[in-house]
Amino acid sequence: MRLSNLPLTTFKEVPAEAEVASHQLLLRAGLIRRLASGLFTWMPIGLRALRKVEQVIREEMDRAGAHELLMPAVQPAELWEESGRWDRYGPLLLRMRDRHERDFCFGPTHEEVITDIARRELKSYKQLPVNWYQIQTKFRDEIRPRFGLMRAREFVMKDAYSFHIDQDSLQETYDRMADAYQSIFTRLGLSYKSVEADSGEIGGAQSREFHVLADSGEDALAYADNEDFAMNVELAPASAPEGERAAPAASMEKVATPAAKSIDQVCQQLAVDPRQTVKTLLVNGEDDAVIALVLRGDHALNPLKAAKLDGIAEPLTLATAEQVKAATGVSPGSVGPVNTKLRVIADLSAAHCSDFVCGANEEGYHLTGVNWGRDLPEPETADLRNVIAGDLTPAGNPIAIARGIEVGHIFQLGDKYSASMNATVLDSNGRETPMLMGCYGIGVSRIVAAAIEQNHDEKGIVWPAPLAPFAVALLALNSKKSAEVRSSADNLYETLSDAGIDVLYDDRDARPGVKFADADLLGIPHVVVVGDRGLQNGIVEYRDRASGDSSEVKIADIAKHIAEQTAD
Ligand code: ATP
Ligand code: MG
Repeated sequence: MRLSNLPLTTFKEVPAEAEVASHQLLLRAGLIRRLASGLFTWMPIGLRALRKVEQVIREEMDRAGAHELLMPAVQPAELWEESGRWDRYGPLLLRMRDRHERDFCFGPTHEEVITDIARRELKSYKQLPVNWYQIQTKFRDEIRPRFGLMRAREFVMKDAYSFHIDQDSLQETYDRMADAYQSIFTRLGLSYKSVEADSGEIGGAQSREFHVLADSGEDALAYADNEDFAMNVELAPASAPEGERAAPAASMEKVATPAAKSIDQVCQQLAVDPRQTVKTLLVNGEDDAVIALVLRGDHALNPLKAAKLDGIAEPLTLATAEQVKAATGVSPGSVGPVNTKLRVIADLSAAHCSDFVCGANEEGYHLTGVNWGRDLPEPETADLRNVIAGDLTPAGNPIAIARGIEVGHIFQLGDKYSASMNATVLDSNGRETPMLMGCYGIGVSRIVAAAIEQNHDEKGIVWPAPLAPFAVALLALNSKKSAEVRSSADNLYETLSDAGIDVLYDDRDARPGVKFADADLLGIPHVVVVGDRGLQNGIVEYRDRASGDSSEVKIADIAKHIAEQTAD
């Protein structure tokens, strides 16, 4: 592609609306443009990166025996009513009405549509298993679209759905999809982790997520190096501290903690370690009553674990300040488990504390030297918290935490949709039986952002070669002035293109500094610089974007040199 033909606008300034590196760089490099909240245009160079990701996914899905189809983005409400999701899906679903006053939605996912296809197309177990996939635009009216492509409202997903006569067959395809996902992320040159994930409403079903590792990731992943343990923190079990709880040593005292609202402020005022404190969070129960959850001061509540406990409303919601006031008479910062009528559930670690600090249920006061069983009843206990680095796995190995961006999710759905939507086939005994289903998603557009989160420097993007919109940036320096630079660079462009190499040819009438800066910002892996001085000796400059290393290469050898580099 000749840059002189393409209006490319890049900029140095970091856009105010962009918080994370990928969003900033995608905008600065002119790869995407924002239309409205969570809606982006893929500009020509950006689109090339998206297409590269799609291509790798297609090849690996085809290789794994899946068949590509393309379903409509717009879906009739009736199907969602059949599955029961029209009401349950909530405000994430973009609903619309046609001229005949019929309800539709813009698909956030396609389980209903594919199940409808399956029940029409498939009649016998002999046609199973089958695995269909598509690469398509989804819309989810995210409550907080942010980080650009990472959490957009309109985005590109690869979604696959498989149908089976029995669990063994489902397991086989599920395992094959897990392998295909490993191949995809490996081929894309990304550093990633596959982790066990929460299986949501369907207990017992298997589910795995694939995360690109990056500090900006929204998910925390718990893993252990010397064992096969890798889980989303949402799911990772936290064990009880070892040993007996220490016997009480202090007596309970009430101390003034004026204006201390957070654990940090309390710890500062009382000069205690957060591990010596507990915090009390009120959450909504299934009935009207609120329930008190008690965690150690340094631990964070795990909403998924809490919501699974009997009596707690799912999804978990914190009581509002008004509810807290009505239930305890004080504001949230002063609530505690002593002298309360509320049901108290303590996390295993909080239940192991002695001589601890907690809210006094009196505005502006805390209690110190508090002990379970002496100053308040022994609590009901449960695993309520997120694991942290240094916690132990069930096998006793230390847990480490990494941040990840979820780019893929595979899931065994069982008969969830086939039962409600009556998608049956005849089994080998001639009996109608609901098919079992698996579903397998990849965030195609999110991968482009995640790759940048993982691979960038102060100058710009550093594409992993398999995603790079172009393999080579060819810079013709001062080409307006020098006919020789122009003709040599033109020739090189032809030669490299003929060799099947994707070249971005910067033949613009622009200063060398602009060309260098744009090539670095765009992150093209191989840079070839054609300048007057080198040409006099038959030489061009070769630069490796990732390492910054540069070398002089004979112009006659450059095509071979590039081929060698791209073959790696
Ligand atoms: P998340 O937890 O990030 O909201 P999800 O679990 O709801 O994602 P899935 O239903 O599993 O998402 O969708 C499959 C894949 O689609 C996800 O793994 C993710 O990579 C991608 N994806 C989901 N929501 C978005 C979004 N708003 N913008 C971009 N990609 C998304
Ligand atoms: Mg998911």
